[in-house]
Amino acid sequence: MSDLKRLLGYMKPYKKTLALAFLFLMGATAAEMAGPFLIKIFIDEHLVPGSFEKKALLTLFIIYFALHLIKVCLTYLNLLYFQNIAFKIVQDIRMQVYGHVQKLALGFFDRTPIGTIVSRVTNDTEAIKDFFVSVLSTFVKNIVFLLGILTAMFLLNPKMAAFCLLLLPVIISIMIAYRRKSSVFYTEIRNQVSQLNAKLNESIQGMGIIQVFRQERRLRKEFEEVNGLHYEASRKNLKFDALFLRPATDLVRVFAVITILALFGVDAIKSPVEVGVLYAFVNYINRFFDPINEMMMKLSLFQQALVSSSRVFELMDESDAAPVQKGQGNPLITEGNILFEHVTFSYDGKRNVLHDVSFEVKPGETVAFVGHTGSGKSTIMNLLMRFYDIQQGCIKIDGADLTSFKEEEVRQHIGLVLQDAFLFAGTVRQNIRMYNERITDEEVVEAAQFVQADPFISTLENGYDTEVVERGAAFSSGQRQLITFARTIATNPKILVLDEATANIDTETEEYIQTALRRMRDGRTTIAIAHRLSTIQDANKIFVMHNGQIVEQGTHQELLTLKGRYHSMYLLQNKGHLEKAL
Ligand code: ATP
Ligand code: MG
Repeated sequence: MSDLKRLLGYMKPYKKTLALAFLFLMGATAAEMAGPFLIKIFIDEHLVPGSFEKKALLTLFIIYFALHLIKVCLTYLNLLYFQNIAFKIVQDIRMQVYGHVQKLALGFFDRTPIGTIVSRVTNDTEAIKDFFVSVLSTFVKNIVFLLGILTAMFLLNPKMAAFCLLLLPVIISIMIAYRRKSSVFYTEIRNQVSQLNAKLNESIQGMGIIQVFRQERRLRKEFEEVNGLHYEASRKNLKFDALFLRPATDLVRVFAVITILALFGVDAIKSPVEVGVLYAFVNYINRFFDPINEMMMKLSLFQQALVSSSRVFELMDESDAAPVQKGQGNPLITEGNILFEHVTFSYDGKRNVLHDVSFEVKPGETVAFVGHTGSGKSTIMNLLMRFYDIQQGCIKIDGADLTSFKEEEVRQHIGLVLQDAFLFAGTVRQNIRMYNERITDEEVVEAAQFVQADPFISTLENGYDTEVVERGAAFSSGQRQLITFARTIATNPKILVLDEATANIDTETEEYIQTALRRMRDGRTTIAIAHRLSTIQDANKIFVMHNGQIVEQGTHQELLTLKGRYHSMYLLQNKGHLEKAL
């Protein structure tokens, strides 16, 4: 129920418009109910048998038509206002969820399939829209209607009205029972939709691999399974709805009509009952059930919206937030000194990926990390970028704890280039300047020239204004890499972090970049991760990682004379050359 309260809370900013919409609704309902009432009065007064008046009939017609016109206009206005608010609320909710998702820790995305997040932001908010657009207005309208009918009944026959009032708790109990049971079905259905989205997302992202390994059939089967489960859940739910919603109220209705007839039967023993009155009563009982039926029919939408809102709120309340600044001071990155002190870290809180790692990089130095796959090199970069917070030890930049920096400071002064280049939709130019208007067009070109991206960009049909589609699928990996390289250089970072950044680039271009990098190093701290040892030989210091620990460190020559891990890695990589040389 608290979800419902929270959902209704979203209407607060639109109180005034909402009040107006309700007013229109009341007006429309009043106009609708006044019709028969007026006709009755009119007939009683003017249509005395034998004195039929043409003029009176015309007046009746005009009144009826006018009332109907008023009703139509007010209903239209109500719908317009109500739907407008509903759409606005859904936009608000969507923005809130999206904003919150952006603030979540990377760890959350490591364990949550993208499709399920997408499903919550799109499908579930859509279900919430139904709540505001169709459920809420139907309920309000019909409750007003019901109250109107009850009042009319009390005026006509208090005994019968009291009897109908007694039916209300029965109907409310049916609604509550339905809500309880159907929430199980709807949760199931929503989960299956999430699963469908997750599967679809995975299949589309990995389409190339799927086709290469001919996984189409397996994935189709998996998709079919989830799809089948979704169908099953929907079918069960439909069966339940069909069995429960209409028949249950119909049963109450029949019971009511029979009881009314019986009551009249008892009355008839005492005094003769007029057929007209009896007809009116049965008619009223049926009218009494119309709004109830209409509400019943919306109950399933209502329940769906509640289930969806609880899923959306769950995401909104996800507390695994990205690391935030701690402490009051706003230290600045001016030198580029990096210090890791006894850093121990685990992604999942169970298995330590880094054990007691300590090292220092002096301003302007270039250091390299080498080591086997999975030894923890990228993890060190992740920690330096503060994508994750460490469990033990401390990371300092220019003497200040990493946690005390503003996020902007870290992002602005530490430039990261990764192996998988991610390009956004937009032009090449925008991808280099990353929508930062302070970076001029000239600087964009300069950055591109610096990393040797300019030659290939110039040959594109629209040059720097070429549109990037679907994460840069039309570019080669090396070209994508060059663009992200230019992007990082354009921000002029104090600390440069390169994680296998040149892995996709041909040797010749890499040579150029290496030369450019050497020029760049002045006054900048550079940390490079590389598998190809040839690219990092001139680093001031090389750290060799093994199982989350730094096992060797020194310059290229020092490490070679050490004849340890680095030495054997070097031998392995240069085997061909050595053999050729011999
Ligand atoms: P490579 O040379 O292949 O890039 P690496 O040295 O960069 O390897 P890391 O990415 O730092 O290796 O990974 C170190 C360990 O941490 C691995 O055992 C890996 O399984 C684990 N790991 C990496 N990222 C995550 C993550 N997001 N969640 C959980 N475990 C992770
Ligand atoms: Mg790595």
